Amino acid sequence: MIRKGIDFIKSMKEGHHGEIYYNGEKVSDVTEHPAFRAAIHTVSDYYDLHWKDEYKEYLRVYNPDVGEETSITFFRPRNKEELRRLRMGISKIYDFYRGFFGRSPDYLNVWTMLFYAHADDYFGKVFGNKMMENVIEIYREAAKQDLFYTHAIVAPMYDRSRPPSQWEDPYIQVGVVRETTEGLVVRGAALLSTAGPYSERLWYLPNIKRDTDPRYSVFFSLPTESKGVKFISRRGFHPKEEFGEFEYPITSRYEEPDAIMVLDNVLIPWDRVIFYKKPEEIEGFMWHTVNLRGWFNWHFVIQHYSRTKFLAGLAIAIAEAVGINNFINVQEKLGEILIYLAMYEAGMVASEELGEQLPGVYRPNPQIAIATSSMGMKALPRINEILRSISAGSSIPVPAGIRDFENPEERALLDKYLASKGLPALERVKLFNILWDTIGSETGMRYEQYDRFSRGDPTIRWAQMYTEVYKDRKQEFVKMVRDIMDQMPNPKA
Ligand SMILES: Cc1cc2nc3c(=O)[nH]c(=O)nc-3n(C[C@H](O)[C@H](O)[C@H](O)COP(=O)(O)OP(=O)(O)OC[C@H]3O[C@@H](n4cnc5c(N)ncnc54)[C@H](O)[C@@H]3O)c2cc1C
Repeated sequence: MIRKGIDFIKSMKEGHHGEIYYNGEKVSDVTEHPAFRAAIHTVSDYYDLHWKDEYKEYLRVYNPDVGEETSITFFRPRNKEELRRLRMGISKIYDFYRGFFGRSPDYLNVWTMLFYAHADDYFGKVFGNKMMENVIEIYREAAKQDLFYTHAIVAPMYDRSRPPSQWEDPYIQVGVVRETTEGLVVRGAALLSTAGPYSERLWYLPNIKRDTDPRYSVFFSLPTESKGVKFISRRGFHPKEEFGEFEYPITSRYEEPDAIMVLDNVLIPWDRVIFYKKPEEIEGFMWHTVNLRGWFNWHFVIQHYSRTKFLAGLAIAIAEAVGINNFINVQEKLGEILIYLAMYEAGMVASEELGEQLPGVYRPNPQIAIATSSMGMKALPRINEILRSISAGSSIPVPAGIRDFENPEERALLDKYLASKGLPALERVKLFNILWDTIGSETGMRYEQYDRFSRGDPTIRWAQMYTEVYKDRKQEFVKMVRDIMDQMPNPKA
């Protein structure tokens, strides 16, 4: 089944979500709450895209794994052509989002599909038939019902100098408290659950490499409405006072609420568990057989390719409107953005072209996908810096709101003093409102943190290019030097 936006809103209204705390209150109707309303509207748009004529051919597919038509975002690519098809579908979605809203339903649909693709050669092989069946059923449920997942995988920031098992309370990180005949009882919290308050399912998949204590070695999927699942929401960045879409064009479309996910003695039924008690198997999950890292970074490349197109458009529009586009220093900066754009496009296409054919799935080239996505951890904040630099102090003095244009006396002043060579005042203010909401507002700053940290810490990720990603190939490069060293003459003995 492919849902419509209205089906998703109905599901939220019926309470198919976790308990949500916002500023000391429990949220009863999440669809009407000002902190979540815009995001729910955007998710609803995501579902509706699947029904629009210009998107249908990209976003809908007959899915042989479930025997019916589903969203392309659940589709398991079996060859290069099918991976391209999946990528083009995701690209359509992110062009619609202008590269924002990275925790739209498609993100975790790809994860759920990926686990299904490795049901046999990883989950079955390592954890046995029961876990394999769980993976298959969880995928079929998600794809058939077009469900919306959140995920949270990082332990709270209690004390990073010690592993969570050595903290005063070892159940700050989510851990198994006890086993029962029905399942596992778990307790703890996880960061950072973007979209948690309006999601219907959750994936909990911790990076257990940081702490191999077996109580943390558990991955599962769960309905968020299960007893004990709670989301403590951060402050909403939604427009305050009388302001709205004119003043906050990005926030009012793409503000993505984040929350702390708390699992308060939650029962995880056995048929929702997919990984248990074998911490050493994380390597196969993250880096080898399943290679989750390769896949989620590939998704980031697609998101961020769309975003870079949007940011390039923003920078060029500003430069051309205010007549700075002929300065060589500005051209150099616009060129820099376009270089990142080309790198994104190259990484996206090359990870497809040079992907890996496995028996059940064709996957993007992990080295290229991870490298391109990791580049973005520094490239996107740098693009924001460029936008700040070319718009300079003029990014700040923009009239407060749309009503400034409704006052005829003031409008005459605005039309005279806020116009630019290339744009009338109203257009220029619209453009600069987009600019500020991208580089300066709470939403803008949140996205910059997202671009830097949503795949983990950039220092560690860049270092991993050496320690993990190129582990098998790095000696090949050293050999190119070594061979010349071996040919060089040695001193006579
Ligand atoms: C806006 C946003 C949305 C996100 N959405 C999600 C989501 O939906 N789901 C999800 O699971 N995750 C999400 N994340 C990612 C995640 O929650 C963390 O932000 C990310 O994994 C980094 O962890 P941390 O913030 O605890 O920082 P840490 O990893 O603790 O790093 C903090 C600082 O300490 C340093 N540091 C920490 N440990 C070490 C070490 N061992 N050696 C050297 N230096 C170290 C780092 O360099 C860094 O400067 C999101 C992140 C952001 C910013």
